[in-house]
Amino acid sequence: MSAYDNCFQCGAALGSDDIAINQKLVSRNVKEFMCIDCLAAYYNTTRAAIEERIEYYRKSGECTLFR
Ligand SMILES: [Zn+2]
Repeated sequence: MSAYDNCFQCGAALGSDDIAINQKLVSRNVKEFMCIDCLAAYYNTTRAAIEERIEYYRKSGECTLFR
C-alpha cells in the first residue's frame, strides 16, 4: 500500500489503472491522484471517455504505466 491509494478529491479507493491514467493525463510526476469520476469532472469529460483512454493505452501495450 502506498500513500497514494485514495482520490485526493473524494477519497475513493484507487487501483493501479487509476494511478496510471493520472500519470498519463496529468503528469508522470503527479503526487496526488484522482479517481476516474473526479478526473472526468476535472477535464470536463465523461467517465466513459476516461475508461476508453485506459482501455486504449492498455491494449496498445506501448505505455509502461499500463501492464
Ligand atoms: Zn474522486
